[in-house]
Amino acid sequence: MLDIQTTFVMMLATVVATAVALPVLVGWRGSTGGRWMNASAVAQALAWGALLLARPVHDRLFSTLWIALLGLSLVCIWHALDAWLRNRPGRLAMHAAALLVPLGYGLGFERYAFRVGWSNFGLALLLGGVGLACAWPAQGVGRRWRGVVLVSVAALAVVTLGRGILGAFFTDLYPELRTPHPLNLAGAILQHIALALITLSLLAGWHDEAGQALKRLATTDGLTGLLNRRACMEQAAVMIAMARRDRQPFAVLLLDLDHFKQINDTLGHEGGDTALRLVAEQLRCCLRQTDLSCRYGGEEFLVVLPRCDRAHAVDVDARVRTGVARLAQVRLGITVTFSSGLTLLQDGDTELDALLRRADEALYAAKHAGRNQLRVSATNRSRNESAVSP
Ligand code: GH3
Ligand code: MG
Ligand code: MG
Repeated sequence: MLDIQTTFVMMLATVVATAVALPVLVGWRGSTGGRWMNASAVAQALAWGALLLARPVHDRLFSTLWIALLGLSLVCIWHALDAWLRNRPGRLAMHAAALLVPLGYGLGFERYAFRVGWSNFGLALLLGGVGLACAWPAQGVGRRWRGVVLVSVAALAVVTLGRGILGAFFTDLYPELRTPHPLNLAGAILQHIALALITLSLLAGWHDEAGQALKRLATTDGLTGLLNRRACMEQAAVMIAMARRDRQPFAVLLLDLDHFKQINDTLGHEGGDTALRLVAEQLRCCLRQTDLSCRYGGEEFLVVLPRCDRAHAVDVDARVRTGVARLAQVRLGITVTFSSGLTLLQDGDTELDALLRRADEALYAAKHAGRNQLRVSATNRSRNESAVSP
């Protein structure tokens, strides 16, 4: 038969080792979720230390501390999940429970049935909160590790709730925590397993976060926050295939800032960067959610407009043009204009490259015609028409 006190000492050894190893692996900087995960491990380690001190030093004080720290470690896990999965429900309930559970336990310590019922119901509630944070929809992020956390906290919640019901309403049947009752031993083993699984799962969550950050870095332009060229081309290729299949109109706009070298010369590189950022800002606000825009090159931007005919594309260009001019006047006190080339998907276009070539030719024509204007590619022009100017 396992000695129950030994399981507590083993638990303490494991959680202390975890609390030391996690910050070494994850670090305290960089990831908010990682910091909460580390904090949770530290709270766990302190909790089990407090439990071992309760009997020999001061039962009421250290037992209350034990409950408080266990609650705190669950709140920390909730925050880690909130950092990784965003907008988790139950923040207020978690904080309130973490405060009220040890408070009630400490105040009602003399009444055994109350304190056992109160603390176990409270901890079960906190475990339920962590489970809910995992189960709450999160757009497919980390389904597997969330599932493992959910199963682990659900098992712990069931056992904790069972202890609460026994302690509060069937006190004679309740096996005091330190007695070598099979229920206590099963609970101790479950705690060990749950601790290992939750730690592994949270590490997977942290790893997911790093993976997502890497993906963001690989697909976005650091200066403007728009998609980078490669990511945009990949997404545009799929959109073209869909537009061809559905026989929907599809437009591509290529923008190039006018005399950008002069802007850099006048305002310095910082000013030039601000101009690029404000163009990106205008693109974001003038486009539909299904449109794409990217930083195509230094001061060139590509705009992909699915389900968009020529008239609407001309409209988009005009809106961006007006917005950029207004923002540049306000923020930089200068005039910023751009030239653009527009082309539309036509029969025979199987690749984005063909559209880009035509848009580039139209852009070149716009530059030659005096800049600050839109040109439509020759193949998309109606007869007797040469250009569309702002
Ligand atoms: P045009 O009207 O013919 O397009 O003239 P331009 O001066 O805009 O064109 P050019 O291609 O000669 O120069 C583009 C300039 O854009 C050169 C380069 O220093 C600047 N540039 C490219 N990337 C960045 C960037 O990230 N930040 C800043 N500030 N400038 C950049
Ligand atoms: Mg250029
Ligand atoms: Mg330019």
